[in-house]
Amino acid sequence: MSDAFELYGYVVFGLFGALLGSFGNVIIYRWPKGLSIVGPRSACPHCSKKLSAWELIPIFSWLFLRGKCSACKAPINPRYPLVEFIMAFLFCLTYYKFGWSWTALEMTFFIFAAVTASFIDLDHFLLPDILTLSGIVIGLVGALLNPDRQFMDSFLGVLIGGGMLWAVAYFYYLYRKEEGMGGGDIKLLAWIGAVFGWKAIPFIVLVSSVLGTFGGIATGLKSNKGMKAVIPFGPYLVVAALVYAFGAQSLAHTYLRLFLPFVE
Ligand SMILES: [Zn+2]
Repeated sequence: MSDAFELYGYVVFGLFGALLGSFGNVIIYRWPKGLSIVGPRSACPHCSKKLSAWELIPIFSWLFLRGKCSACKAPINPRYPLVEFIMAFLFCLTYYKFGWSWTALEMTFFIFAAVTASFIDLDHFLLPDILTLSGIVIGLVGALLNPDRQFMDSFLGVLIGGGMLWAVAYFYYLYRKEEGMGGGDIKLLAWIGAVFGWKAIPFIVLVSSVLGTFGGIATGLKSNKGMKAVIPFGPYLVVAALVYAFGAQSLAHTYLRLFLPFVE
């Protein structure tokens, strides 16, 4: 592959990621309020000024405007460019790791929908079915179409991913008589299983639990509810799935070398 073609790939994936990040922002902001995600055009929440075309350029508009509305100078939440940047970055990483492939196409869809779902979960403690359930279906169809994936792997991923968290939630409920894990998390892990296959599930559950424990302690220390503070678990599952997709092999290798330094 020539260098120019490589660069072209990063530009296409990066732009596509930034644009989908911008669309993701619209969903994150409007979906929980029951507003239409196709129109009308976005406006400043303070002065209701409709944003012009040049104010809708992902990441760059926020930089040009120095994070302020052009009309009323109210600060624009830095979360907007952040979401756009995260998606652009993850899309470039996808191209770096998977090139032009079925897997890359599937990864970009997963990143778009899962990052969007994570931010909705952070804000509202819910994972929309429209994202998780369609994610499961698209993940299963992807396994049928993608020559690098096995349908059975994906199908078992849905059963084991969903089943594992369902069991955790069930026993937690029996023990504490209160709901610890939401149904959204169960559907999310089933979706992750559909995309990454059943073998990914133990790694993702382990990594997300470790991240969730640290995150939970940090949230508990900051909150006046202490350790009873509720934390959304969805973002941890998504981060763990991305760690698996982009770095599991080298991570597992590094881990192995801690104990067996002679491993090449
Ligand atoms: Zn304004």
